[in-house]
Amino acid sequence: MMAANNKSMHNKRAIVTGGTRGIGRAIVKELAKKSCCGVLFSDVAFVYNSCDECADEIMKEIDYPGTNIHAFKADASSLEQAEETVNAAIEKLGGVDILVNNAGITRDNLLLRMTEKDFDDVISANLKSVFNYTKAVIKPMIAQRYGRIVNISSVVGLIGNPGQSNYSASKAGVVGFTKSMARELASRGITVNAVAPGYIQTDMTNKLNDEQRQKLVQNIPLGRMGSPEDIARVVAFLCSPDADYITGQVIAVDGGMTM
Ligand code: NAD
Repeated sequence: MMAANNKSMHNKRAIVTGGTRGIGRAIVKELAKKSCCGVLFSDVAFVYNSCDECADEIMKEIDYPGTNIHAFKADASSLEQAEETVNAAIEKLGGVDILVNNAGITRDNLLLRMTEKDFDDVISANLKSVFNYTKAVIKPMIAQRYGRIVNISSVVGLIGNPGQSNYSASKAGVVGFTKSMARELASRGITVNAVAPGYIQTDMTNKLNDEQRQKLVQNIPLGRMGSPEDIARVVAFLCSPDADYITGQVIAVDGGMTM
């Protein structure tokens, strides 16, 4: 029994969307650690849509013996590009065991001022991208009867936020999609879960001024914003054998904001 489990933990291959900075970069790094959470990763691929220098920097920065890092440039909003990227990744990695749908953007505004483009762009980058990559990986995952899919939602998708109707709708959509996929794929050995970060220190939240930041932190029971690594460790756990009996869940990693 143990030997079979150990074998299944080795040489896992992961694809992470939006891996050049912030939470995605921390996830790539966490998974690439040779013996992360009882899993041995042979390959971690990340998808990015801009900043070639950032991709090169990560390839140089993340250096764990035995784990290969791969970069693929593509727009996660495009199904065609997602399918091309996943096919290219499978060819290079020899397969795919883990998908982390992390790519996301904000285009905040009160609804009165929000344009149709602001709405469509956010839904495409945050929700349709999850459909695109999940659709592209499930065939090979079903064939091997194993897969771990982790989608990055947001607490804003659970509780809403003024000025973020597009973003909260996209992230609530990710929750619904996660639960439906978990039900659809459970019998095929594939788990699908979501992580809902609270306020995490990244470029996405660097736009906040000191006053906004102070106000936010007052509503966080643990009294601080989260770090990208706080999220990456939970994602890695959900990809590990310790989480084999968890599917269809949304885990808030938010310092207690939404308890
Ligand atoms: P970030 O802006 O620092 O990084 C986002 C990454 O996604 C970047 O690498 C960007 O290039 C990539 N990306 C965006 N659109 C893409 C597209 N169309 N195709 C390919 N790549 C694309 O943001 P972050 O804070 O690291 O956020 C990562 C995820 O976590 C997002 O889904 C975000 O919504 C979610 N999130 C963040 C916070 C937070 O407080 N930072 C809170 C809740 C949820």
